[in-house]
Amino acid sequence: MKAFVMVRIGEVGWMEKEKPAVGPYDALCRPLALAPCTSDIHTVFEGAIGERHNMTLGHEAVGEVVEVGSQVKDFKVGDRVVVPAITPNWNTTEVQGGYHQHSGGMLAGWQYSNIKDGSMAEFFLVNEADMNMALLPDDIPLETAVMIPDMVTTGFHGAENGNIQLGDTVAVLGIGPVGLMAVAGAKLRGAGRLIVVGSRPVCVEAAKAYGATDVVNYRNGDIVEQILKLTDGAGVDVTIIAGGNADILASAVNMTKPGGTISNINYFGEGEFLPVPRAGWGFGMAHKKINGGLTPGGRVRMEKMIELVKYKRIDPGKLVTHVFHGLENVEKALLLMKDKPKDLIKPVVLLD
Ligand code: NDP
Ligand code: ZN
Repeated sequence: MKAFVMVRIGEVGWMEKEKPAVGPYDALCRPLALAPCTSDIHTVFEGAIGERHNMTLGHEAVGEVVEVGSQVKDFKVGDRVVVPAITPNWNTTEVQGGYHQHSGGMLAGWQYSNIKDGSMAEFFLVNEADMNMALLPDDIPLETAVMIPDMVTTGFHGAENGNIQLGDTVAVLGIGPVGLMAVAGAKLRGAGRLIVVGSRPVCVEAAKAYGATDVVNYRNGDIVEQILKLTDGAGVDVTIIAGGNADILASAVNMTKPGGTISNINYFGEGEFLPVPRAGWGFGMAHKKINGGLTPGGRVRMEKMIELVKYKRIDPGKLVTHVFHGLENVEKALLLMKDKPKDLIKPVVLLD
């Protein structure tokens, strides 16, 4: 089968690979919709998680089941399924400890395009299929559905980890597709004022549609100064980081009120350390909490995100600005994520 791979750091390409063998708990899927991710850019072009050779890319997929293992109970050939970015092995102590994202080691629940082949191929394997995929309702379009495996669940995790209380003032730093879903999640969690930071007009318009009340452009000056000015010097209750480089963590700490929460969902691709400002963090005594989380995955999480879309609490379809057809176009779509043209939020590839 054809697969689109990370050949090595800095290089992508196409390969012929064996169709994966299906174990008793696995399902084999044919992709119906795929989306590339900014995380792939950190992985491939910044070498953020180290070297990988000929690893198939892709961790955002909707698929059709073409084969199931002998022990798979709840899915059958022909089912259309949402496959999460995070597909842990569910029989570990980390899972019992409440952190399936780290099942088998730190970040090891993130298997696709990290420690095993991903979904940008003619076929891809879902491990522990009963636990790692969810049925797609007929009334959700494919391009909307493929926002669920990562964009929706990650953005919402930013809002969850921020522990947003009704009426809180929330800042979302970065309004690419992940930040936009954090905006939608913050609104659902009851944010009052919702300040977003970005620059590209297409993202700013989407942020307003998802619930932003104020917009700050980081190209117009220091974002801490701009947000403190907007809040009469008080700062915000919760800051969600969904873009920028390492320095943005320092800004987030500085703009958050004492007792507030900084919730990071950004993937810091470069540098050895992240800065925490000594004075901004109250010399270590400001009760400002810093959370950072890999998105949850697995079946139940997907089913819950699907409910939010099905019952129209959110419309992640508005993220999709570019639609391609045919597997061969995953390369073009990935390179769009690298170049981030002005009119891009998120590209999708349909395999119809
Ligand atoms: P995008 O690159 O599309 O968006 C980044 C956003 O950050 C844009 O709005 C951009 O503004 C803004 N930005 C850039 N520089 C700055 C700055 N200096 N100050 C403030 N804002 C800035 O990324 P995605 O939305 O696709 O992904 C966001 C992050 O989430 C990535 O690091 C990705 O790897 C990570 N991620 C994490 C996951 C997790 O499980 N935690 C899962 C998936 C992704 P503009 O372009 O408008 O100028
Ligand atoms: Zn992703």
